[in-house]
Amino acid sequence: MSTSLKLGNAFGIGIFVHWTFFLVPALVLFTNPGLSGPALALALFLVLAVFGCVVLHELGHALAARRFGIATRDITLYPIGGVARLERMSEKPWEEFWIAVAGPAVNLLIAGLLGFFLTFSRAIHQVVPLPPLGLEFLTMLMFLNLGLVAFNLVPAFPMDGGRVLRALLALRLGRLRATQIAVNIGMVLAVLMGLAGFLVMGNFMMVFLAVFVYFAGQQELAALYQREAQRRWQQGEDRFFESYREPPTGPQSADNNVYLWDSKNGVWVRQKPLRPARSYWFEAE
Ligand SMILES: [Zn+2]
Repeated sequence: MSTSLKLGNAFGIGIFVHWTFFLVPALVLFTNPGLSGPALALALFLVLAVFGCVVLHELGHALAARRFGIATRDITLYPIGGVARLERMSEKPWEEFWIAVAGPAVNLLIAGLLGFFLTFSRAIHQVVPLPPLGLEFLTMLMFLNLGLVAFNLVPAFPMDGGRVLRALLALRLGRLRATQIAVNIGMVLAVLMGLAGFLVMGNFMMVFLAVFVYFAGQQELAALYQREAQRRWQQGEDRFFESYREPPTGPQSADNNVYLWDSKNGVWVRQKPLRPARSYWFEAE
């Protein structure tokens, strides 16, 4: 936590900002050297306001999780967005669905309120005069919130849309198979996102986010494999697998186990004698 600065508490959850976050205003200044005066102030206020909305988005996830008895360790802002660190992920598909949907729902609500305000701004203007720049600010903030809704709902696991997809697939296919499919789709979308960010938009934050999505999904899948293996082992089922990041050496390989390289998942798999390891991965739940 020493690399993060604490902003305060909301609903008993600590809100932090990672030091790299301060690169964002610097990036705005660097990429828009022509900005000055009111336009510069508008751009910087907009960056702050958007990240304020990101905090509210993360609180949406955190409070939805709390309803299902899941606590949130903290919320941290990074240049590529916010992260609410939940104590655990719900393993019930509908709970995961509502927790994932709650974040974008907050931004939709903000956009709706801003839209309502702007629609009646002429009438309000007669009571409380707003400078034109203020109206421009609120209009842009509304569209940026709509952008956050659309962007977060892209089904690239582990982004919100990907979690919604995983939850819906899990209803029919089980959690493991659903995660495999969601992670594969997420990896394809991450590559497209990275290419679009790099080639079309020249947006390096987008490239960072794409790299994060590409690896974080696989990491979560690997963790799920481990938990699943443990669960089956504890249940004393007649099948189990263990995976290793490093090739087993020394006394481990001196036992009678057979180790296979699973290139798809990038792990060594300990095979129970006489049963092919791969079948464990894809066995129906
Ligand atoms: Zn979210």
